[in-house]
Amino acid sequence: MIIKSDPDIIKSFLEDNSGLRGGYVKEVSFPESTEEVSLILSKANKERVPVTVAGNGTGVAGGRVPFGGLVLSTERLNKNIEIKRLDDKNGKAKVHAGAMLKDLKEAAKKEGLLYPPDPTEDTAYIGGNVATNASGARGFKYGPTRRYISGLKVVLADGTILDIKRGESFAKERLLNLKEKTSIKLPSYTMPSVKNAAGYYIHDNLDAVDLFIGQEGTLGIISEIELDLIHESGDILSFFAFFDSDKNARNFASALKRNLKEALSVEYFDINSLALLKDKFPYIPDAEAALFFEKEKSKDDIDATLEEISGSLKKNGAFYDQTLFAQNENEYKKLFDLRHGLPERVNEIVKANGFPKVGTDIAVPEEGLDSMLSLYKTTLERSGIPYVIFGHIAECHLHVNTLPSSEKEYNHAKEIYIKFVEAAVKLGGTVSAEHGIGKLKHKYLEKMYGPKAIREMASLKKAFDPNCILGVGNIFPKELLNKAGD
Ligand SMILES: Cc1cc2nc3c(=O)[nH]c(=O)nc-3n(C[C@H](O)[C@H](O)[C@H](O)COP(=O)(O)OP(=O)(O)OC[C@H]3O[C@@H](n4cnc5c(N)ncnc54)[C@H](O)[C@@H]3O)c2cc1C
Repeated sequence: MIIKSDPDIIKSFLEDNSGLRGGYVKEVSFPESTEEVSLILSKANKERVPVTVAGNGTGVAGGRVPFGGLVLSTERLNKNIEIKRLDDKNGKAKVHAGAMLKDLKEAAKKEGLLYPPDPTEDTAYIGGNVATNASGARGFKYGPTRRYISGLKVVLADGTILDIKRGESFAKERLLNLKEKTSIKLPSYTMPSVKNAAGYYIHDNLDAVDLFIGQEGTLGIISEIELDLIHESGDILSFFAFFDSDKNARNFASALKRNLKEALSVEYFDINSLALLKDKFPYIPDAEAALFFEKEKSKDDIDATLEEISGSLKKNGAFYDQTLFAQNENEYKKLFDLRHGLPERVNEIVKANGFPKVGTDIAVPEEGLDSMLSLYKTTLERSGIPYVIFGHIAECHLHVNTLPSSEKEYNHAKEIYIKFVEAAVKLGGTVSAEHGIGKLKHKYLEKMYGPKAIREMASLKKAFDPNCILGVGNIFPKELLNKAGD
């Protein structure tokens, strides 16, 4: 097994895409098998050495940034991706945690199959996707990573290897019994009924596999993964439409959601997002808002669908002649680049500003979306801090990115964030719909579930990791682990 302590190599493991700074660690281990992961953990556990698991560092919540101990990199846990077709519609894949999302997608595609979750950044590792329950642009139709996980090998802090399959072990009245661990008490909170990646996934009859999805490296290290694949249906119908008013864009989004249930994604861009994109894509018209839409193309209903979309665009104040429809691969790529151009522009501005962006990941129930959006806009306009609002409008999950350029603005943006969190929680929403809590959003999670629930989460962690060596500082603060009941 390879262990590196060269500062130049370690440096790249002290960060992720969150902008969290100050991480430090003495060495990074690169296990090549589940058994090697187990050896590293059992030694670290005996010596009480904290272990931070690293995927490929594309996370945006500081989860893989270490503060002491050692880093266990999953980079070399990347043996062959095995793909098996089960019938003409479905398949299975077996991968190790360090398999890259883009490699899995390519391998599946070669067999005419699709791995549906699409969390944009395809250099992420599958282990990282599972640990954060990543979702993405096509989450409206396909849902998050969780939906496609049928089995996991997880190494616990003491080196025990769990081999769990979906459908085999369930909690009963919030008590979970596994072969290797019994009487595990689950927290008592109720999760909101919106897209959600905040804290542990808990419900009365929890499937044990689900507990390890979205646990952000705090309960065990995911080393091997069995995934479900679906039939790759091929052609996509997509367009980018621009609107004369925000209200019209939102009405159109609701109409698409209502009438075209098979939509893959409906993404919203506010006026500020369009202004940023215009620097790079000057053909964007002077619009108040835009929507990006995708749907699988079916030969049988394509004419009717196009007719319905065209009628609805005209009725809802879209700049019909400037709507960008993608009819072939090249045109689709152009729309895709436009949609993905925004995070890139935001990152460029953040770099130039020299201050991190303050980005929300809030989702609310459908009936709360209008009031949430109006709160975002009035508060941010009043603040004078530059911002963009964009994202998964069909799932009522919009990202607000404020772009401060001074300490004062940065602190103000963080205060505003708290205000948004409080409003979302009141509406029955979540503080994190897809990115997780990591080391940056503890206090928001507490606002969402309350202090008792956070203590219960810490106790659950201790049931799997009594010496508290794994993913310390992720999901809840380190100090809480000392207080949580054993
Ligand atoms: C431009 C951009 C766009 C993005 N878009 C989306 C999006 O649309 N949707 C979305 O959900 N996310 C998105 N992300 C966030 C990111 O890609 C996901 O969080 C991803 O799942 C992280 O994977 P990773 O391998 O990089 O993990 P890392 O960042 O290395 O780690 C993430 C967390 O998982 C833990 N972890 C990693 N591997 C394991 C393992 N094997 N076992 C246990 N714990 C582990 C780490 O300790 C850490 O807490 C985006 C990121 C970027 C940079």
